[in-house]
Amino acid sequence: MKKIVIIGSTGSIGTQALNIAEKHKDKFEVLALVANSNKELLLEQKRKFHVKHCGLFSINKSNLNSNQNAENTTSDKNISSSNNEKSLVYGEECYELAKLAEADVIVVASSGIDTLPYLINAIKAKKTIAIANKECLVAAGEIVMPMVKKYGATLIPVDSEHSAIWQSSHSGEKKDIKKLLLTASGGPFLNYKKEDLKHVTLAQTLKHPNWTMGRKITVDSATMFNKGLEIIEAKWLFDMSVDNIEVVVHRESIIHSMVEFADSTVIAQMSYPSMEIPIQLALTYPSRIESNVPSLDFAKLSTLHFEAIDSEKFPAINLSKEVCKLGDFYPTIMNSANEMLVDRFINEKIGYLDIYSKVEKILAMEVEKLDMTIENIIYISNKTKRIAETI
Ligand code: NDP
Ligand code: MG
Repeated sequence: MKKIVIIGSTGSIGTQALNIAEKHKDKFEVLALVANSNKELLLEQKRKFHVKHCGLFSINKSNLNSNQNAENTTSDKNISSSNNEKSLVYGEECYELAKLAEADVIVVASSGIDTLPYLINAIKAKKTIAIANKECLVAAGEIVMPMVKKYGATLIPVDSEHSAIWQSSHSGEKKDIKKLLLTASGGPFLNYKKEDLKHVTLAQTLKHPNWTMGRKITVDSATMFNKGLEIIEAKWLFDMSVDNIEVVVHRESIIHSMVEFADSTVIAQMSYPSMEIPIQLALTYPSRIESNVPSLDFAKLSTLHFEAIDSEKFPAINLSKEVCKLGDFYPTIMNSANEMLVDRFINEKIGYLDIYSKVEKILAMEVEKLDMTIENIIYISNKTKRIAETI
């Protein structure tokens, strides 16, 4: 029985992880859950899985009492408040749940760089970490990866491309890997002309052809900032130079990514697109168990398509590589600027193309000379978000 903790249990990855735990009750015990503000769903999950420890991040200690009073009168009327809520922790106390002594696997499935304190706690507690969150690796890979080594923690990628690379890389030795090939579905605008992108709407942007995901990552998939972030994520997870990481457009999302070895052999991981496989594998590794994903029917698939990325239409790819080479706080700045600008786009405050142009503008600003520490990454991230909020 593996005891799992899910940070971000109410999100797209978190709920899918819980579906796996529900299907395989004999294999998993849900030890702790953390969400940001979706209390109703969190409490429902808590009851359903008999979870001992739960955390709700966005409620501070200071407004805890008034919140608890409000809770009992409003949305949770039908939830027996006393027992279910007693064991909730709030605010920064939630970080403690990422290092519970009894936990076997910590699923880091919360979004954004605010996830960093959970990740650091799990690393320091030497945990096996199923990592879905990419923003922390992008912004703080330079600090996170040496910590993983120092404390002897284990990171298992959940992001489908990185899970595919991780699985494929087991076919050979690290020193013999020539390059990583990240596949990209191309998102909803693959066949749009550059000038047509001026007028695309939020609804069009949120319609991903192959995947159902949270809103932020869905917008990132349309702009290809997602692939840009994934290049940097791959650099840190697999210790590769960005020059040896290539993006290949593959519309069908059947090949989830590939590794090319010294002898030019390419190993790919394939399945119908579903996050169930990478999430489940991160929980069961080294075992594999049945999933709801059907076997590939090669006769029906018949053709898979591949093409080069149009880097003029999707400048986020080259921008991300440049930013990664510049190092310093540039990846943090790109990530946080994008995060805030996507939020503004989702709230229909700015247009689709403003995301690129404003990220570029922010990256061109002078960067403070500071030591590379977690505190400074958070400081630069917050500062960047404030700039991105009004630029
Ligand atoms: P969602 O927006 O669907 O869910 C985010 C989750 O994180 C919610 O449970 C949210 O709680 C919680 N959360 C946010 N901030 C905090 C915080 N400070 N403390 C605790 N919990 C918090 O995101 P996704 O599931 O789509 O993505 C999660 C991460 O996984 C992202 O980094 C994304 O890039 C990555 N990823 C996602 C994929 C996907 O298929 N969705 C694929 C590959 C990677 P609440 O509901 O209360 O707001
Ligand atoms: Mg991905």
